[in-house]
Amino acid sequence: MNNREIIDRLSAERSLPKELWVRLLTEYSDDDRAYAAEKARNISTGIFGRKIYIRGIVEFSNICRNDCLYCGIRRSNTALSRYRLTEDEILECCAEGYSFGFRTFVLQSGEDAFFTSDRLADIVRKIKLSYPDCAVTLSVGELEYGEYKLLRDAGADRYLLRHETADREHYGKLHPAEMSWEHRMKCLRDLKSLGYQTGAGIMVGSPYQTAECIAKDMLFFEEFQPHMIGIGPFIPHKDTPFRDKTAGSYKLTLFLLSLCRIMLPEVLLPATTALGTIDPRGREEGVLAGANVIMPNLSPLAVRKKYMLYDNKICTGDESAQCRHCLEERMRSIGYELVIGRGDWQERRALK
Ligand code: SAM
Repeated sequence: MNNREIIDRLSAERSLPKELWVRLLTEYSDDDRAYAAEKARNISTGIFGRKIYIRGIVEFSNICRNDCLYCGIRRSNTALSRYRLTEDEILECCAEGYSFGFRTFVLQSGEDAFFTSDRLADIVRKIKLSYPDCAVTLSVGELEYGEYKLLRDAGADRYLLRHETADREHYGKLHPAEMSWEHRMKCLRDLKSLGYQTGAGIMVGSPYQTAECIAKDMLFFEEFQPHMIGIGPFIPHKDTPFRDKTAGSYKLTLFLLSLCRIMLPEVLLPATTALGTIDPRGREEGVLAGANVIMPNLSPLAVRKKYMLYDNKICTGDESAQCRHCLEERMRSIGYELVIGRGDWQERRALK
């Protein structure tokens, strides 16, 4: 079986055995990537048209109790100046975003103890009251079931929590001993059982990642059936233990986007900021590889540079309006348009 035949099999069966994943991920050529990208693009335009959903991200705190070895806002990074937006500032970001046409707000932060689930639930309620036509996505890390439930009851619609890796041992090399792979996976199951549209995901090329690890990630996606998948390259940050590690491969990230689209046709798949950071055309190429979401920044300009997860992060010097406009132009240049709307996950037959 050659690689094209493996990709055809994935397309027909929405599934591959592990050994074929490993083979595909170790031996792919530019030609295989182009073949997968074309298939993925056709699936994506067949379901969503040439329309790209936008989500406005509000990075409301860079304070974090965790010490993930790859992350620029890890607790041990003393070189970073920390900030926390007030509730009013968060609501102002949403107001501004709404006026630019955003109908999904993604509230993302480090694991900041100040923002208890009660405080967050208040904020979610206020956003939903002011903008009943909008979706709220949370991305605030690992919580307990009761806390996720409280936030869901307050009106949160979606939750992004990358599992980071489906390989337990690999997880242990990316995180300090006090963090647990089992707990992160349990969080994802809790979120899904509570009715959140749930997003999992990985960094491509994170240190010590092997083709076998990514094969396990793909098997996990197949089994878990996330509504959203966040895949971006790992990019080193100068003030972390991984400062000298190599960034993830641009081509492999694009290939994986295509393979995710082929395996889970209706999944919401962003062309991430990290992809746009390692290549100036990353977000356009991400869309052409099968992505259908982009997530511009709505954080106040004054704090953008402080939410530096990795070096040289793009869009940290532009006002939200500029970001929105720039992305609109970028999408138009490849024949796509940004749409105003919540852009919920839907079953394929409902979309047809
Ligand atoms: N605290 C929340 C959590 O743990 O999910 C949300 C914030 S966390 C910074 C968001 C994501 O950023 C992580 O899931 C990770 O995949 C990504 N990230 C962190 N450091 C990165 C790096 N150096 N390169 C690429 N992505 C990175």
